[in-house]
Amino acid sequence: MYENQASNNHESALEIKTIKYAIKEANRCLNCKKPACKAACPIENDIPDFINALAYGDIGEARTIIGRKSNLPAVCGRVCAHEVQCEGACVLNKTGKGIKIGALEQTIADFAFEMELPHDKLLQKTRGNVAVIGSGPAGLTVAGDLAKSGFAVTVFEALDEPGGVLLYGIPSFRLSKRIVRREITNIEALGVRFRTNCVIGKDTTVDQMFYDGFDAIFIGTGTAISKELPLPGYELEGILQSSYLLRMRYLYSSHKIKREEVMIQEGDRVLVVGAGNVGMDAARTAKRLGAESVMVVHRGGEESITALPSEHEAALKEGVAFHGGSEPLEYIGENGKLTGLKIKTINGEKMLHANKLLLAIGSRPANRIVSTTHGIEVDNDGYVIIKERPYGMTTRKGVFAGGDVVHRPATVVLAMSEAKKVAAGIVEYVDAVKLLEM
Ligand code: SF4
Repeated sequence: MYENQASNNHESALEIKTIKYAIKEANRCLNCKKPACKAACPIENDIPDFINALAYGDIGEARTIIGRKSNLPAVCGRVCAHEVQCEGACVLNKTGKGIKIGALEQTIADFAFEMELPHDKLLQKTRGNVAVIGSGPAGLTVAGDLAKSGFAVTVFEALDEPGGVLLYGIPSFRLSKRIVRREITNIEALGVRFRTNCVIGKDTTVDQMFYDGFDAIFIGTGTAISKELPLPGYELEGILQSSYLLRMRYLYSSHKIKREEVMIQEGDRVLVVGAGNVGMDAARTAKRLGAESVMVVHRGGEESITALPSEHEAALKEGVAFHGGSEPLEYIGENGKLTGLKIKTINGEKMLHANKLLLAIGSRPANRIVSTTHGIEVDNDGYVIIKERPYGMTTRKGVFAGGDVVHRPATVVLAMSEAKKVAAGIVEYVDAVKLLEM
């Protein structure tokens, strides 16, 4: 799973510092009849409508309008790829002054939470009972949408705190953990229950969950297994997964582990293999942990950097170096410890010196749920196969899946967009089953 960019470590909008300023910005919006901003949003957020409500100073209404499409507005306002989605499409870009949509969304979400604006009246939870496995963006989206539609929802999370990749994968210099916890509090306020430290396939099973009375089950467990690069020397001390570093960094900032357990130390010389968004996050995290040098190694030229441009730029600004046209050949070490990486370049072989190496070459789904449940088919790479009708149902009746575990790692908002369609599929399925039972 990856989300974007906005290398934004602030907890309030970068440029929209006050509600007064936000209202002024909202009043610049043309409220276009055919809004290009909305068309460019993966979840078709009603952007002109919420901006219009804000322009009139009705922040409660603005929050309600956003809430019709998004259960994570404070997150989306911070980490969505606005520059290539809504903001990139705004017609006012022609004047050089497009509307700062992400910052407005963020300001509305923050203000509504801080002022404790009342939520809309909740529906009775009488329509059905749904289990959601995984509490990342896809799971939280399905949980929020179903709760708003009158379903009782329980979210099962394997770790001790809900949030998934939002907590453990995105470094806090891009998304504050406080904001993630706040979004989860908002979803709880919709009546969603969370059950943590519960591993499906170990502590309970999908079959048991049906036996316990759930009408449908959603799997939104993402891609938990990092891909390996087992070249000669792979056993050397100092070779790590980027996702592991990001998780350890989070645990340290949450006071759950000691600093020495976060494996990057001051003065380290670090190589990062892989130039996607996870690679950028790992490189920037290593810099912040005091690494003397950080270099991202990637195979092709600049075009092979798959991270969003804003992430790449942020890494460059922070002093991360890039070494393109490099094919890793062998990990080199002394006394069992990494001392470098031998690479092949257009000019022959070369040695890059480092005592830590972070792999960031992709991830794939874990198979614990699939292997403990009969009837859920996956493709050759382990991604869950789903149907078009009802949307998102797997080859096992009543079991649905969405987000990265189906569609491969994507952005937060794309996982949300798919999850919304699956939530609609679950509503369709449970309503039909209940009708037949009458
Ligand atoms: Fe407003 Fe720009 Fe969207 Fe038009 S495209 S409705 S000006 S934000």
